Amino acid sequence: MTAPRSAAAIESWAEEADVVVVGFGAAGSAAAYEAAAAGADVLVLERAGAAGGAAAMSDGFIYLGGGTPEQRQAGFDDSVDNMKAFLKAACGPSPDEAKIDLYCERSLEHREWLVARGIRFLGTVIPTANGTSPVDGEGLMFTGGENAYPFDELATPAPRGHVVQGGKPGGSVLMQTLSAAAIAAGVRTSYDTRADALVVDDDDHVVGLVAARYGEEIAIRARTGVVLAAGGFINDPAMVEQFAPAVHATELRLGTEGDDGRSIRMAQAVGARVKRMDAIECALPFNAPRSLVSGIIVNRLGQRFVNEDTYMGRVGQTALVHQSGEAYLIVDEEHYAPNWLGIAAAWVCETVEDLESEIGLPSGSLRTTLDYFNEHAARGEDPLFHKRPPALTPLTPPLAGLDLRASSFIYAPFTLGGLHTRVDGAVLDLDGEPIPGLYAAGRTTSGVAAQGYASGLSLGDSTFFGRLAGVSAAGGKP
Ligand SMILES: Cc1cc2nc3c(=O)[nH]c(=O)nc-3n(C[C@H](O)[C@H](O)[C@H](O)COP(=O)(O)OP(=O)(O)OC[C@H]3O[C@@H](n4cnc5c(N)ncnc54)[C@H](O)[C@@H]3O)c2cc1C
Repeated sequence: MTAPRSAAAIESWAEEADVVVVGFGAAGSAAAYEAAAAGADVLVLERAGAAGGAAAMSDGFIYLGGGTPEQRQAGFDDSVDNMKAFLKAACGPSPDEAKIDLYCERSLEHREWLVARGIRFLGTVIPTANGTSPVDGEGLMFTGGENAYPFDELATPAPRGHVVQGGKPGGSVLMQTLSAAAIAAGVRTSYDTRADALVVDDDDHVVGLVAARYGEEIAIRARTGVVLAAGGFINDPAMVEQFAPAVHATELRLGTEGDDGRSIRMAQAVGARVKRMDAIECALPFNAPRSLVSGIIVNRLGQRFVNEDTYMGRVGQTALVHQSGEAYLIVDEEHYAPNWLGIAAAWVCETVEDLESEIGLPSGSLRTTLDYFNEHAARGEDPLFHKRPPALTPLTPPLAGLDLRASSFIYAPFTLGGLHTRVDGAVLDLDGEPIPGLYAAGRTTSGVAAQGYASGLSLGDSTFFGRLAGVSAAGGKP
């Protein structure tokens, strides 16, 4: 179905435009706007009945930095180099340095672009939180473990998760604003239209698409370029099984039915290269109220594996990918409260041994872990994972255990891997050469977070590199 069609076999084009954008979510709206602003006649194909995509469901964190007005207002110094240092450490191993460099160098400009479209941010911050959902009156958050080990030693901690203001969820406001801006710029739309295959000419140039509109197959010609901005593949079981099998342990998938990887496969079918298909983000929203971070998270061997005060998405990635989604949060009475999602302790015991046995951990394992942790925490030290005070404190019985297993708790994954693109949005082939006429952005591509993640990076790199892809597809130089 995603196999390319030959232009010579197309009998008639139902629609024509200079630039055809697939998907009217975060990346697609930015791409469409910029292509239209560059003077192109732009048509957006959207399989749903309206603009929005996963972006409209999102919390509306956008990762921006380098000294934004909101950061300055909240009293934080940040610089382009500082932001680069954090992202190169957090989005590795071996992140896409060219994407990170440009993203950081133009972050202030991208904020201006968003504000010019009507997006509003706020310069207030809750300094301790690390990637939970925004709370009322909050404008800025640490969303990637910037203020936790090891990143607080590699870069000066600065909050960069800018929350879109004006309603909840912020992503809905973002998408209403960006899609309206694109339409006001002259972009045409075709809803209930699902792109299924690319059309190529005799020189292997992408010159259009075949799509299903209200169930009928139509061909759409793209005179200068096609931009694939159709989300990731978290909702395609076969691709998840092939590339990101760790996700199988989770029930929840963060995305829309459009996240079926179809546009990635369409591009692969014309020879596109993919990158980091195994990379996932996985929120594990255990860390509110903040007192729960004073607990320790152990695996099925009763051993810690992460600093609990880092970004909850990093904890989730680590727990899911490296511990098969088997984790338990151990916390004492002083720091216990039901999790903010209303999830209470699964076990409460008077002694460490009872808790160990009730959870089913190997005999002596939790005792050893706790004794070691408590001995050092009493001195303000965490030699293994460098959790920082005030979250670093000895835990004394009675103890509670929260069941953080993927079978019991909420793990919220989405995919980060996708088409290998240049910074200007050109989709590369297996030899690393651009495929003529084909561009992509957003979670259809591997972006700033080639591995690792910070909340806000997906809306951030989708809108930023979406803009560049739109300009390129219109024939301009971004
Ligand atoms: C609950 C939730 C909270 C989140 N919070 C945040 C956050 O705070 N910050 C952040 O950065 N990220 C967040 N994310 C992730 C973020 O929303 C997505 O990663 C981001 O929207 C990706 O942008 P995109 O343009 O690639 O995809 P989308 O925004 O999903 O847009 C893709 C569009 O393409 C359409 N489409 C798909 N296939 C086709 C096809 N074949 N033909 C035509 N149309 C097609 C889809 O219907 C969709 O409208 C969150 C996600 C969820 C679900």
